[in-house]
Amino acid sequence: MNKLIKYHEKQIDDQSENQSETISVFFMNDKNQSLNALETQLEDFGYTVNIFNSIEDIFSIMSNLKANLALSSSHNLFVFINTIFINNVTVKVIEYAKLRFENDIHFIYYSDNNNLLAHLQGIRNYGEAFLSTPLEASEISEVITKQCKKNEIAYRILFIDDDESIGTYYRNVFKKAGIICQHINSIDNVLNIITEFKPDLLLIDYHMPECSGFELAKILRQRINIEFIPIVYLSSETDPIIHLKSISDGVDDFLDKSTKSNFIVNNLKSRIKRARTLRSRIMQDSLTQLYNHAMLEEHLDLEIYRSFRNASEFCYVMIDIDNFKAINDQYGHIIGDKVIKTLSVFLKQNLRRTDIIGRYGGEEFGIILPETTVENAYGMINELREKFSELMHSSESQVFLVTFSAGISSFPEKINRLELIEEADKHLYQAKNSGRDLVLPRKTESKTL
Ligand code: GH3
Ligand code: MG
Ligand code: MG
Repeated sequence: MNKLIKYHEKQIDDQSENQSETISVFFMNDKNQSLNALETQLEDFGYTVNIFNSIEDIFSIMSNLKANLALSSSHNLFVFINTIFINNVTVKVIEYAKLRFENDIHFIYYSDNNNLLAHLQGIRNYGEAFLSTPLEASEISEVITKQCKKNEIAYRILFIDDDESIGTYYRNVFKKAGIICQHINSIDNVLNIITEFKPDLLLIDYHMPECSGFELAKILRQRINIEFIPIVYLSSETDPIIHLKSISDGVDDFLDKSTKSNFIVNNLKSRIKRARTLRSRIMQDSLTQLYNHAMLEEHLDLEIYRSFRNASEFCYVMIDIDNFKAINDQYGHIIGDKVIKTLSVFLKQNLRRTDIIGRYGGEEFGIILPETTVENAYGMINELREKFSELMHSSESQVFLVTFSAGISSFPEKINRLELIEEADKHLYQAKNSGRDLVLPRKTESKTL
């Protein structure tokens, strides 16, 4: 088969860092199974999809890629492979590709039978995720977003130690390991620094002049947005009784300053990895992997605090799917769930990385748009409304359309969480009463020429 490869163009614009990332999607699929419907849906999500049916085609993917990847420094390639294609030749090609393109290429496997053996084959061949058929566009998009994020978010450690030279030493050790470390030599202002720096882990000297590491850990453990951050002591203290007491008091580990630095780095990295996974389970809504209600409200409080300090504005948006009850009634709850998931992926893909999205409940979503005027928020959300209303949804037998309505509130017009939510809710209610498929208040920028 000599198929022309469609060049790929899903671009994620990161407005905060002004970077643009290109993502290509390829499928190695059994020719007896049609992926036409999936291809259309993925194209609706903005991806260009290339489907291949034989092992020979992998070679053509690779040679085309060489040229393609050379053009862009931030080009991510996703190859979805049906596990029926795994054989000695495929494995060699995959190994070569991984060697050549390293973190720019991602292999995701799928199989018709969700069995452990197929999954194992995937893991042994650089599989980063494993899916079962029927493949869903929203699920695929989710995997892609997750893997892209994984590559880019560096671990962050806040190191509290009164000794400046030790601070500098470990900052360099962590920097070499790709970890961002902020060192502070006093506990003044530590709560604000944690809020701003958002560390994955706190590394604390056990003996400090102002208070003991033990007292500090106790204070930190009582704060709600800090309670999940691992705390590790780094100290020359060798008394095993103190080590044991610290750990039984909720500190995660006690590392000796004489320990080799690569051991310290590996220990902290694995703690952070695990803490991130656990934290995301606690904070996320299980259906959509968006922030859950509690986390959304916590982020709203943080944004209020941040905007007060920076004298900046932001908007809060409530989105609610129109006539969702009828969708459930007509197509069933499973299809209803699929619509909720599709909207969540759609929002994640189309908003900026700095925007915060949560599932407020049921078919309602809350969005925080930092540094955004009401006019801009209206423009963004109204565009999403239009785009989403054109997206095709499918049940087993039918294709249908779905719309949503939205209400916007803004800071500093409203300055506390309850008022912001109430105001957005009020506008949402008005939008519903005005016929749905609408964003309110309708504010557009008045341009003077
Ligand atoms: P409106 O346009 O006024 O928003 O009408 P609506 O039908 O969307 O709103 P209503 O609040 O009457 O119904 C929402 C329905 O959403 C009721 C509930 O059964 C359903 N629902 C809530 N959570 C979920 C969920 O997680 N999955 C599914 N499938 N349905 C859900
Ligand atoms: Mg609704
Ligand atoms: Mg509702």
